[in-house]
Amino acid sequence: MDITRRNFLGLTALGTLSAATGTSAASSLHREPVDNKKVYGVLVDTVLCIGCRKCEWACNQEHKLSDKKLQEYEDKSVFDRHRRPSDSAYTVVNEFSNSEDPTGKKYQIKVQCMHCNHPACESACIVGAFKKVENGTVRYDAWKCIGCRYCMIACPFQIPAYEYSKAIEPRVMKCTFCLHRTEVGKRPACVEICPNEALVFGTREQILQVAHERIQARPEKYSAHVYGEHEAGGTSWIYLLPYDFKHTELPALDDRPIPDRTEKIQHAIFKSFVPPAALYGLLGLIMYTQKRDSRGEED
Ligand code: SF4
Ligand code: SF4
Ligand code: SF4
Repeated sequence: MDITRRNFLGLTALGTLSAATGTSAASSLHREPVDNKKVYGVLVDTVLCIGCRKCEWACNQEHKLSDKKLQEYEDKSVFDRHRRPSDSAYTVVNEFSNSEDPTGKKYQIKVQCMHCNHPACESACIVGAFKKVENGTVRYDAWKCIGCRYCMIACPFQIPAYEYSKAIEPRVMKCTFCLHRTEVGKRPACVEICPNEALVFGTREQILQVAHERIQARPEKYSAHVYGEHEAGGTSWIYLLPYDFKHTELPALDDRPIPDRTEKIQHAIFKSFVPPAALYGLLGLIMYTQKRDSRGEED
């Protein structure tokens, strides 16, 4: 079925009505584990990363986010400040070190959307603009988005960025996991260009195996903790680090999927009066209608 904006609106309204009358299935807190053989993963090996920032360039080229030349990414002065992914850069490389390490050695860490196994952004989005698809990518559909930015609040990695500077149809921006490439058998652009095998693409199962093999082969070089294997219920992007992750910008998270917590709170708050799906659906309907009307759209 071709889902146009108009019939999507109709579906939203239907969802609102059925939820309000109690016929909608409430969102379940039971979560199926992802199948590590089916979903893709990327290993980010910060021990092997040489901070060349070619991954940043390749990503920007691939998604037409910047027309800067590759040579301009050789500028290492960017490491003087901490950067975050933004609406004009889906990924950035930062520098980190351990103040207790007498060698003072610095390492680089590439950050982007983690494509969580149980994405908080998907759970928070009231109109289904985020969706975890079969190959593990957390996809964002701009045409569904009403700009509420709940995804930005929900994400434990502070990844989604908003096109505040865009007056017309601003979008939420984040790493796409290069879905358009992986669907046709190619690796993500950042992985393809990485010159030092600091980025490795495969199924999540393969990536975890490579991660543990690298630790076993050189335990003096690596922290034994494979970050992302279990954090927040697991992520598709997996990190190997030389030290404890507390020296990096990666947040401390336990093994529970974030939606387990947030959905419980939502349910508790709304239990006594309005089902959350009804409230969200109604809010979504109002915001979507306003957005459509402001565009004078007739599709
Ligand atoms: S890192 Fe944030 S934006 Fe990316 S999938 Fe996880 S919750 Fe969503
Ligand atoms: S997977 Fe694609 S979108 Fe994501 S950081 Fe790499 S190049 Fe950018
Ligand atoms: S391309 Fe590879 S080696 Fe270069 S900064 Fe990115 S992750 Fe590190």
